[in-house]
Amino acid sequence: MYVYKDKTAAMVVFKGIIMKQGFPSEISRDLLEKYSKPGPRYTSYPTAPVWTDEVTSLTYKSHLENLSESSNEASLYCHLPFCPSHCYFCGCNVIITTQRGPISSYIDYLMKELSMLAPYLKNKKIKQLQWGGGSPSHLSELEVKMLMDHIKDNFTFAQDPEIGIEINPEQVSESFIKTLKSVGFNRISMGIQDFDEKVQQEINRVQAYEDIKKTVDWVHSHSEVKSLNMDLIYGLPHQTREGFRETLDKVLSLDPDRLAIYHYAHVPWIKPAQRRFDEATLPSGIEKMEAFLDTVHYLDDKGYEFIGLDHFAKKDDCLSKAYQDRTMHRNFMGYTTHKGLDLFAAGVTSIGYSNCGFFQNHKKLTTYQEMIDENLFPVEKGYVLSREDLIRQDVIMRLMNQEGFIFSNIEKEWDINFKEKFHQELSELTPYVEDGFIKLSDDEIRVTPLGRFFIRNVCLPFDEYFKEQQKQKNLFSKTV
Ligand code: SF4
Repeated sequence: MYVYKDKTAAMVVFKGIIMKQGFPSEISRDLLEKYSKPGPRYTSYPTAPVWTDEVTSLTYKSHLENLSESSNEASLYCHLPFCPSHCYFCGCNVIITTQRGPISSYIDYLMKELSMLAPYLKNKKIKQLQWGGGSPSHLSELEVKMLMDHIKDNFTFAQDPEIGIEINPEQVSESFIKTLKSVGFNRISMGIQDFDEKVQQEINRVQAYEDIKKTVDWVHSHSEVKSLNMDLIYGLPHQTREGFRETLDKVLSLDPDRLAIYHYAHVPWIKPAQRRFDEATLPSGIEKMEAFLDTVHYLDDKGYEFIGLDHFAKKDDCLSKAYQDRTMHRNFMGYTTHKGLDLFAAGVTSIGYSNCGFFQNHKKLTTYQEMIDENLFPVEKGYVLSREDLIRQDVIMRLMNQEGFIFSNIEKEWDINFKEKFHQELSELTPYVEDGFIKLSDDEIRVTPLGRFFIRNVCLPFDEYFKEQQKQKNLFSKTV
């Protein structure tokens, strides 16, 4: 029998699995084999394969013309897709170049797109601004200043906004970090991935600890950074449990506030660069889970809260507090304490979101530019959300971000009888109850510490589209 105890409990035993402080110390091969299957990561619901090109520039324009006044704050995302070289594991939409011309031309287009968007947001204040990529640090200092000046000229910021940027720590100079400070960035995220030299060679991302430490020291001495995040990936070629622990030790010596520790998604049919990897050198599902479990325990001991699917934050970080209070949310920019802010996105492939739906810009640079030349929002596809989608999205996001919910909270929000509406889905949860992933009572679903490692599976019954999607091959990476 599974006995759920909260994380302060010393030891719990379930089916022979010892759980220290609520987390399992190991997960059986049987459970992994049973639940390791392709499934969405639920960074959105409905998931991207459902989106359609029936959502166009005109749909987006009409959405902007009818923006809700329910919130006077918003999030803004700028996508900067350029990188000087290709990391072979990378799943992002990137443009590899060392030439300045294409970058400078792209920034002109991005600024024009932002100018087109700005009049619709004149009654909203920007609470969160994020530059992602690609590597936004591939811009010159002049380009950083020019783009930020343009944003400040066209949009109004809320008080105490979060202004974040992703940087490649190998790429930046001390002067670049000073520039980030001078234009107002207060959140920095660095891609590290792994410090093991053999792994770095294989993934084409060679960077020395000493160089990264230098960059971190500059960040601490020259910027107003309130939050420093580092990204790592587990499951890369030649990675071992021991090697990943050494990487973690080095990373912790740099004192990040937050860590994103992503599960490497091996999808060579989508990302051809991944075909370079010899699949025999990729850790198995069991090895990956062992490395991740080690990481969860180790970081817990070192004062980091496991806040979500692949994210950790220092226990006094506002995200950890939001996780504990069950007020944490997630949008395309990551975990956040701000609920319900519309996200407006600019740049090639970028994705915006509101309660109305999802809007994704063109992936192809030339099409993106041609549409802006014609004063059209460069939307390629998206999805208009129905009330049914919004209810299911609420359920899935509460499972993902708040580890469950009380049925009456969903009932109040949506004026439904939860058990009647989700009668079928609740019956499909039985295996997860039996395997100890959730506790299901008459009025609540609560995800257990073991269930957090299988959370993508637990959400599947509530996904109206997955039954059809699972008939198609190669749509999603594996859930565990
Ligand atoms: S720097 Fe980041 S975005 Fe660019 S190729 Fe490497 S992992 Fe991808």
